[in-house]
Amino acid sequence: MSNVPEIFGENVFNENVMRDKLPKEVFKKLMKTIELGAPLDVSIANVVANAMKDWAVDKGATHYTHWFQPMTGVTAEKHDSFISPTAGGKVIMSFSGKELIQGEPDASSFPSGGLRATFEARGYTAWDPSSYAFVKDGTLYIPTAFCSYTGEVLDKKTPLLRSMDAISKQACRVLRLFGKDVKRVTTTVGPEQEYFLVDKKYYDARKDLIFTGRTLFGAMSPKGQEMDDHYFGTIKPRVASFMADLDEELWKYGLLAKTKHNEVAPAQHEVAPIFSTTNIATDNNQLLMDIAKKVALKHGMVCLFHEKPFDGVNGSGKHNNWSMSTDAGENLLNPGSNPKDNAQFMLILTAVITAVDKYAKLMRISVASAGNDHRLGANEAPPAIVSVFLGDELERIVRDIIAGDETADNGPAKIELGVSSLPVLPKDNTDRNRTSPFAFTGNRFEFRMPGSSQNIGCINMMLNTAVADVFRGYADELEGAEDFHKALNALVKRELTAHQRVIFNGNGYDDSWVAEAEKRGLPNLRSTPDALACYDEFVDVFESTGVLSETELLSRKEILLEEYAKLISIESRTMVDMAKKDIIPAVATYVKELSEVACNKKTLGIDAALEIKQIEKLSALSADAYEKTEELSAAIAGAAGVEGIQEAANYQRNTVIPAMQALREVADEMEVNTAAKYWPFPAYDKLLFGVNS
Ligand code: ADP
Ligand code: MG
Repeated sequence: MSNVPEIFGENVFNENVMRDKLPKEVFKKLMKTIELGAPLDVSIANVVANAMKDWAVDKGATHYTHWFQPMTGVTAEKHDSFISPTAGGKVIMSFSGKELIQGEPDASSFPSGGLRATFEARGYTAWDPSSYAFVKDGTLYIPTAFCSYTGEVLDKKTPLLRSMDAISKQACRVLRLFGKDVKRVTTTVGPEQEYFLVDKKYYDARKDLIFTGRTLFGAMSPKGQEMDDHYFGTIKPRVASFMADLDEELWKYGLLAKTKHNEVAPAQHEVAPIFSTTNIATDNNQLLMDIAKKVALKHGMVCLFHEKPFDGVNGSGKHNNWSMSTDAGENLLNPGSNPKDNAQFMLILTAVITAVDKYAKLMRISVASAGNDHRLGANEAPPAIVSVFLGDELERIVRDIIAGDETADNGPAKIELGVSSLPVLPKDNTDRNRTSPFAFTGNRFEFRMPGSSQNIGCINMMLNTAVADVFRGYADELEGAEDFHKALNALVKRELTAHQRVIFNGNGYDDSWVAEAEKRGLPNLRSTPDALACYDEFVDVFESTGVLSETELLSRKEILLEEYAKLISIESRTMVDMAKKDIIPAVATYVKELSEVACNKKTLGIDAALEIKQIEKLSALSADAYEKTEELSAAIAGAAGVEGIQEAANYQRNTVIPAMQALREVADEMEVNTAAKYWPFPAYDKLLFGVNS
């Protein structure tokens, strides 16, 4: 293992490198943009570009790329070399400020939800100085935002940056009420990333994994996760060596990879970095997924980020730990130790609770995807109902505030914010509730609904926007108050009373919670099409916070609905292909073998009842599978006649998915009854235990 502090960040054009390579004035101006979100001084771009290029060329780079995050959710890049011809048929390596600041990739093939017709293919990428550039595989990567030529956003980064501005602006107003002169509040995120590792040779033999990232067929192996022996278990040598390589690579890119462990399901693992600002955490998480895939390949394995690669064992999520912190380094979700700080903490906490209740549907939308539908609401991940877990102590305080009567002398404990001390909260909220979608964990909230493959940019953009909106309302109300403390007490009590329905400390996996949540009036949007159908309700909040215009928002809805329908369509066609070309023929071969055995036995005068029973069973199952395949094909064909994007997504969910499930059921039954050597692809035992044995 190399010297970690030495290799850490060696591929990154970070603050230290900038201080070293840039003239003092230029460095100062650039840092102002990075730290305070001040507009970029264009005059410095040439200097920065040149320094970046020299540094990158020293690291072996020959190309640069504007690295962006289109609505596909994965990152995109187009590489240009630094070469520039000179007299005499030679070249020099050059890179201008203009090339750094703006790029023009052909945007026509990225999803835009009707924002940009293909004939106006031009989109442009704009440098995001708040996220560091880095060198990877001989190319200088410049993190950028991606817009259409008319300025509408086409990516996941721009709205995130806008939402960070929006929440900063409103949070600063709130903090000023407490006498704090704060210039910038940034949201911080630490995403815990779950993934599966499968042996490459088994992966290559499964079309479903190759085309869709998950198994569309597969009976459970005799052993699954029931022994709970994998969670935090000893890491097996092959996986350990992958993890060591992964850490080293991540450190080179300046990723604060900190924690790694085995997860609940066999072959499932987790890696978590130390938190950073949301923008950087998002870029880093995209980079992490990319690097993990490459490192796994070097070890003869494939890293799966799908939310549900295997039926019958847990799927993978991405826990989004979120908080806000000031330019003075104060974490706003850290309960203070004196009454004044406690009052501020309670107001901030109240704002988050209010935002999650008021925008519960938006929170659900933010994690909606075909893959994640397999997790949310299945007994392994938080339910599709959004609720907040506070832990016992904090919940008691909230109840006291709600019950507190300012005029009564006796009765419930009276908590006057900013005057009396709150009971001391335990630093580490250890009675973690793993079933809660949105849990307070001592100094941050952990949003557990996001799926493992999702880009967290969009998720945090929505969360930031919701909280920014609530902060704005609070600041409007309290800035004009005659008696700040009285107004503050009244506001907190009123808001907690109005939104207490979203607080739930119980078991989110319990069926009774679904009924209880319904009684409380909490939305339960079970599927992606259901969730996306609610997009239109949020036009106002996005427009008024300046995060997304109505057209931008609705284009996103369109893209996501389309993506959902396309994904299910690929999955269903893959199933038909595997059933017809692999499964049914394989079982026929096995039946033929059984028939030969039966005939031979009969010739010899031996009873062949066993073989005949097997032949009958498998023949009946094959006939059924054939029928179910035809039904699935018909369902697939039916999609062509459906008009409207929402309807198309609904059709996939209502008609195609049930037909897929019906086929899988029969095929899995065939698998259980077929000799292993005839089964056309590796089964769950190999996939789940292949790299761990
Ligand atoms: P868990 O016990 O939930 O598994 P981990 O240690 O695996 O916790 O991950 C917790 C994550 O929360 C880490 O990424 C950590 O950096 C992050 N975190 C800690 N404090 C904050 C904060 N103030 N804002 C955002 N994320 C935070
Ligand atoms: Mg964890």
